[in-house]
Amino acid sequence: MIQFPELFEQRTRAILGDEYTLLQEALQTPPPVSVRVNSKQSGYQPSLTKVPWSKGGYYLDQRPVFTLDPLLHAGIYYVQEASSMFLEEVVRQLAPDAHRVLDLCAAPGGKSTLLSELLPDALLVSNEIVRSRAMILAENLIKWGNPSLVVSNNAPSDFRATPGFFDLMVVDAPCSGEGMFRKDEGAVAEWSPANVQQCSLRQQQLLTDAWDALAEGGILIYSTCTFNREENEESVAFIREQLGAELLTVDISAFEGIVFSGSGYRFYPHRIQGEGFFIAALRKTSTAPSPNRMKMDIRKLNLKPATQFTNALVPADAFRVYDDNTLVFALPRQWNDEILFLRLRLNCLVAGVQLAERKGNDLIPAHQLALSKNLNTEQFSGTEVDLTTALLYLKREAISLPDAPKGYVRICYNGHTLGWVKNLGNRSNNLYPQHWRIRMNL
Ligand code: SAM
Repeated sequence: MIQFPELFEQRTRAILGDEYTLLQEALQTPPPVSVRVNSKQSGYQPSLTKVPWSKGGYYLDQRPVFTLDPLLHAGIYYVQEASSMFLEEVVRQLAPDAHRVLDLCAAPGGKSTLLSELLPDALLVSNEIVRSRAMILAENLIKWGNPSLVVSNNAPSDFRATPGFFDLMVVDAPCSGEGMFRKDEGAVAEWSPANVQQCSLRQQQLLTDAWDALAEGGILIYSTCTFNREENEESVAFIREQLGAELLTVDISAFEGIVFSGSGYRFYPHRIQGEGFFIAALRKTSTAPSPNRMKMDIRKLNLKPATQFTNALVPADAFRVYDDNTLVFALPRQWNDEILFLRLRLNCLVAGVQLAERKGNDLIPAHQLALSKNLNTEQFSGTEVDLTTALLYLKREAISLPDAPKGYVRICYNGHTLGWVKNLGNRSNNLYPQHWRIRMNL
């Protein structure tokens, strides 16, 4: 039985009244398990129980060992807590035509993979301040497979270099995590009124730091996974009054159990099947600095048009393919200038689609290419493997493929590409990224 801090109980009871007892009981039950399916795999249905507010969201009856499911590593679904999938409904209702999207606090990538799914033609800049977490974010977004993507590892204040650039900014803020108490014992142990206060100040700071990057009239979606007012309604009041924004509302009449608090939408585990969550949407009314015209000296990037891998993605004419002597990569034509502009201003871990890496005289196909939704499968042979071989491959062990074609070959499981090997006939070199490999024993 989880013991909650007494002051947490008092403060949450002040918000919920007698209903607090129901919350307390719900927090003693196991959390629901939910996943969201990638539309790159139409027809995959992991269960019969839908998350009401997400097209691709499903509840599972029990928690499988996700690590040992190759489909997870192929980016066919993402394990995401159900309440936070409500971002989908907010975007659908308020920002369905967003073009340039910043997810400021994005790791490990739940909201970003959802944004990428909902707005596949928009340019998504998915940012994370903590380097190790940014690497995981990049991994999850590469697996998701959309090409109009930048993954950056920057502090919110670094976005002063991109004034007025974004028309949608999502801030899923670091918070005290009260809504995650039944999933994360650490959140219970770390909880204190002083920590709540500190989180609230940090939220105001990071919102202030990134505010200039949002265009006037642009939409901000702010969320946390905590219950207290300081980090929720008071943060919204700060955005409205100090930064300059008007509150937007979402029609929740189709969904039972969500509570509108006057400034945002509250999700309680005793009312809905999900964890504690808060989400609010605002429109920026204050003036933004005018976007700097994308003047840039791309000579610094040392790029030339590529001569190989030019048909690696489909449709080929939707991409410009570059070679910088180390990497061959593709940028969606639609976002070519924007992505180059961002590469010159941010610390980008991913920018467009990496196609190949030069090693000596050889060009080795990149993992991002294998997982891209736009991979031209006619250009690269694939070989289907069984579950045991797929898992050995994902552990980065040697697998033998005597019947597969020689050279660079895609390893496929149930028709989904997992990555590359270089097949030499009697043996093959496993090219699965070293730092992504499964470390669990089979
Ligand atoms: N949006 C993510 C998702 O859906 O998977 C979860 C984001 S998590 C709630 C908050 C993130 O903010 C963490 O990855 C954390 O490293 C990052 N963070 C911590 N301090 C920060 C700061 N001062 N500025 C910006 N981000 C920060």
